[in-house]
Amino acid sequence: MTKPFDTINYKRPNLKTFVQTSKKYIANLSQSTTIADALTAIQKMNTLRKTFFTMATICEVRYSIDTRDAFYVGENEFFNNNLPYVEELKSEYFRTLINHTLRPELEKKLGHQIFALADQSLKTFSPEIIPLMQRENNLTTEYMKLMATAEFHFRGRKLNLSTIRAYESSTDRVTRREAMETKWKFYETNYEKIGGIFDNLVKTRTEIARTLGFKNFVELGYARLMRTDYNAADVATFREAVQKNIVPIASEIAKRQQNRIGVDKLCYFDEEFRFASGNPTPKGTPEDIIASAKKMYSELSPQTDAFFTTMLNNNLMDLVAKEGKHTGGYCTFLPNNKTPFIFSNFNGTSGDIDVLTHEAGHAFQMFESRNMPLFEYYYPTFEACEIHSMSMEFFTLPYMNLFFGDDTEKYHFAHLAAALQFIPYGVAVDEFQHIIYENPEFTTEQRCAEWKKIEKKYLPHKNYEGNSFLKKGTLWMRQNHIFNTPFYYIDYTLAQICAFQFWQADVKNHKSAWQKYVRLCKKGGSESFLKLVEIAGLKSPFDAKTIEKTIKHVKKELFSVDDAKF
Ligand code: ZN
Repeated sequence: MTKPFDTINYKRPNLKTFVQTSKKYIANLSQSTTIADALTAIQKMNTLRKTFFTMATICEVRYSIDTRDAFYVGENEFFNNNLPYVEELKSEYFRTLINHTLRPELEKKLGHQIFALADQSLKTFSPEIIPLMQRENNLTTEYMKLMATAEFHFRGRKLNLSTIRAYESSTDRVTRREAMETKWKFYETNYEKIGGIFDNLVKTRTEIARTLGFKNFVELGYARLMRTDYNAADVATFREAVQKNIVPIASEIAKRQQNRIGVDKLCYFDEEFRFASGNPTPKGTPEDIIASAKKMYSELSPQTDAFFTTMLNNNLMDLVAKEGKHTGGYCTFLPNNKTPFIFSNFNGTSGDIDVLTHEAGHAFQMFESRNMPLFEYYYPTFEACEIHSMSMEFFTLPYMNLFFGDDTEKYHFAHLAAALQFIPYGVAVDEFQHIIYENPEFTTEQRCAEWKKIEKKYLPHKNYEGNSFLKKGTLWMRQNHIFNTPFYYIDYTLAQICAFQFWQADVKNHKSAWQKYVRLCKKGGSESFLKLVEIAGLKSPFDAKTIEKTIKHVKKELFSVDDAKF
């Protein structure tokens, strides 16, 4: 089963066979009068879907590793164009499942969550929207491609959007300013194009929503993310609590940063430069870093040891930045091989270590639930997924000396400060999307004006000194989630509040906290978000008290450190 990634055979699924076979199994399920027959049909459907998505994932990974590879460009297009048909079959399958006469017995066997997911999923699809979904897929690919083509000639080097980031935290203010200006020039040059892609996306998504009977895309966006136990009103309450409890602390942290790095104003090009002595950077080559990660996971627990050894022995990580590679980082899962895959762009910053903790946290969860009986249970909804990844960042904190040496204490401080400062930005991205999809007729200029207003509310310390383009309210254009996965972004902030809680639990009693974490990982996607939070022994982030209490602890830790010494 487990195979080195490069030796896994890719074969384009035969769509006709896939459709015919699916229909046959769905009919079997529909006609089954005994639990045994129904479960057999479900398992067959499960196996078929696993194989299809294993191929789709291999294609996605190989395409993102080299976006210029003509073969996988074509294969990627095949999936973009045909995934809607697969969605259609999934809908038929789910409809059969939830309307089955044996549903109560099936729920007992399979758990309630698959039925909750099926209910949500059915709201998000109808065959009429297939052409619109194809258009949406092509638009997100267009944005992704545009970002991958960004090429900068900076200080004698050829850089892309990932690799230029190393200069954004340069100790030399002129260098980081010019790096930022160079990067933002790319967005400015492509302003019309990016604004146009987004406008098309918003209009397409709105049309999809209206075709499905929604007022606008907001509720559909939530349903697509399979949110079964909270809604936009809960998220609005969450944002309010963030504004009240976190924004003031984030501003204080920015002020401290300004003093620490000795500038009279903290400008946008200073934000990544957190310490006068330079940001904490990992020591050694990518090979050294990977060797340290191996040591870390072997010491953390037998479970993580088994996991990371599998990843290494089977080339299930593509970590270093290369020409033509898609930007960013992600973790995905190959159902038939029962293995995760980690993709990233190492660039010599502490972000490289975050990949080995954050993405590895996702991967560890998938690895722990690799034997789940249902395809839908390999991983939970995104806000719950991010608990695994963000909490792993805290569980691995005691090992950071392996990567940072003398910079370790500085890294701890920086990590915690960044985690907290991220939350106001995260809710800003979320509020922006609510406004955008509630007002789909807005022009790009109006959208930018809205972003500016939101920035004032949640990120009052922002200073775009000398950059008229960013002053227009264009920062959102760099946030690929806004284009690719609408309404996803809030999930990071919800999960961060949960991860902070795991961190506190870990400091108090490591053994008990780790057990709870593994228990959570093993649950995979078999429960809803708030249920998983409960299983993990955590408090709901939608309760304003949770934020207040959790943040108190984080603040205490941050302000007990004399950061002037860094
Ligand atoms: Zn993540």
